[in-house]
Amino acid sequence: MLSGCRRALPAALRLAVRGWAGGGGRRRVSTSWSPVGAAFDAKQQRSRLTGQSTADFVKIAHPDFAFREAAEETCRNIGTMVEKLNTNIELCQSLKQLLADKEVMDSLDPETRQVAELFMFDFEISGIHLDEEKRKRAVDLNVKILDLCNQFLIGAHLPNKIDKQILPEHIRYNFAVEGNYIQITGLHADCSDDLVREAAYKIFLYPNAEQLRCLEELLTSRNHLAQLVGYNTFAHRALQGTMARTPEKVMQFLETLSDRLFQRTLKDFEMMEGMKMKLNPQNSKLMPWDHPYYSGVLRAERYNIEPSLYCPFFSLGACMEGLNFLFNQLLGISLYAEQTEKGELWCEDVRKLAVVHENEGLLGYIYCDFYQRADKPHQDCHFTIRGGRLRKDGEYQLPVVVLMLSLPHSTKSSPTLLTPGMMENLFHEMGHAMHSMLGRTRYQHVTGTRCPTDFAEVPSILMEYFASDYRVVNQFARHFQTGQSLPKSMVSRLCESKKICAAADMQLQVFYAVLDQLYHGEHPLKRSTTEILKETQEKFYGLPYVPKTAWQLRFSHLVGYGAKYYSYLMSRAIASMVWKQCFVQNPFDRAMGERYRREMLAHGGGKEPMLMVQGMLQKSPSVEDFVDALVSDLDQDFETFFMDSE
Ligand SMILES: [Zn+2]
Repeated sequence: MLSGCRRALPAALRLAVRGWAGGGGRRRVSTSWSPVGAAFDAKQQRSRLTGQSTADFVKIAHPDFAFREAAEETCRNIGTMVEKLNTNIELCQSLKQLLADKEVMDSLDPETRQVAELFMFDFEISGIHLDEEKRKRAVDLNVKILDLCNQFLIGAHLPNKIDKQILPEHIRYNFAVEGNYIQITGLHADCSDDLVREAAYKIFLYPNAEQLRCLEELLTSRNHLAQLVGYNTFAHRALQGTMARTPEKVMQFLETLSDRLFQRTLKDFEMMEGMKMKLNPQNSKLMPWDHPYYSGVLRAERYNIEPSLYCPFFSLGACMEGLNFLFNQLLGISLYAEQTEKGELWCEDVRKLAVVHENEGLLGYIYCDFYQRADKPHQDCHFTIRGGRLRKDGEYQLPVVVLMLSLPHSTKSSPTLLTPGMMENLFHEMGHAMHSMLGRTRYQHVTGTRCPTDFAEVPSILMEYFASDYRVVNQFARHFQTGQSLPKSMVSRLCESKKICAAADMQLQVFYAVLDQLYHGEHPLKRSTTEILKETQEKFYGLPYVPKTAWQLRFSHLVGYGAKYYSYLMSRAIASMVWKQCFVQNPFDRAMGERYRREMLAHGGGKEPMLMVQGMLQKSPSVEDFVDALVSDLDQDFETFFMDSE
């Protein structure tokens, strides 16, 4: 889920990106475009490697270690620079004066006002509007929080060790043995042996005193900082400017959703327990380590969705042609594979796409870094390399992004073939890319995906709905050898299989999101983080808490998404509403596509997210509407989508 996505930069970093990523617009529109699909299915072409990219991206994805190291150094320098800017009293004072001058503020366009407020918000958290003593405390707290975050992240991924004699001999081979010890590095959630999963769960989640202290200190420090700069809780501070706006609204959303899921989740757990009973009659009580495994077993049993049956229909070239067709129908936009210059690419298998509108011409560039390579993280990401902005000379600086996937290379006998999951991820990431391409903000600070966290996944999740619709899939899914279309029944089966145990899966996300809210709510916490976990798990999940475990110590998203873990669920709710109201009748509706571009994609983070949603849906959705959308997806009979496609 969230981890699969590269999100907008943290506020502090965004500041620096403004001037730094500029570099003027190179508007070379090549005349040597070739069809987008052909470029992906063709044999690899050679080109040269270079460091033309942003430090943030290079640090993670460059194939050459020296480049990654240099980029890391650059990131640190930028960080220091941003820190200096964010604590520059002169800058802050002049911004404050501007914000206080009603006449000047009224004369500004809404986006400029919004950006001014965002900058003030960044200044605030560093505490420079406070008196000297408080300011010093704020600086100290910021430093401390950064250290605690790093420490927590490291601790969240550390293995737990156990004397090997404690584990039954017949399951030891599942784990790494080191002398007399066994290392448990994860939950082994997909292992078919119940005992292995149980052992991994209990050992990997065994509480570590230091990590526990680190988490408690992190939560306390975040709360202190938020209060110091004028908020009730860290959650209140974190939610400013988001779609949800307040922790109360988030909890209302999560509680309503949980109530509506409850019966459906129970049914899912009963199904899983039934399956466990069948496979392991002696020990059939459903436990937390069973959920992912038995839902997978049920999916496999009910629907034969063996990926190898689907892959031949999803060559990368076919999928790119599908995206091209969809964007063309909806938005009048075409993707062209563009020739690159010598030294432009960091790896020879990267493809550069020009995104071109039928009347407006070139809108931006997407570098597609799609293939696996050594040292490349297995993570699907969208990186903003250069944001769009209006330049002083009146020209619009075109956005440039990188999409990073980890797809297999083509072979002698076949092009790169995608599993249904990979195809869906490709559509998801292209949703982020189009958000970047179609943003026409005045400032880079709010370009494309640099928008509130709970809105950022709307464009990408919406693309998943398109990827699951037969009318869309039928446009491009062709067997790479025979040219045969993907049978409709196979698409239906795929869609139906996704609904198996989907209520329980969503319930688990609700539990995590509530936990994140409670941890970042009222302080000091009335009980230990483990007691809060136990109570929340029972109330918002339903499978029993296992004594002497502390899952929260592995909850690494607390660092990057503090008080905003609910975002993915809320983005999904919005995407679902947009799909059902605007596109389900006709997924190629040009008028709706134009409305979508105008109301939702054009504004980046320069407009209040709820206003964008209202513009799209032409009404103001309630929390109940959000929940209805999510729940109806679980019950949806996908056949009704295919009304006119026979
Ligand atoms: Zn995403």
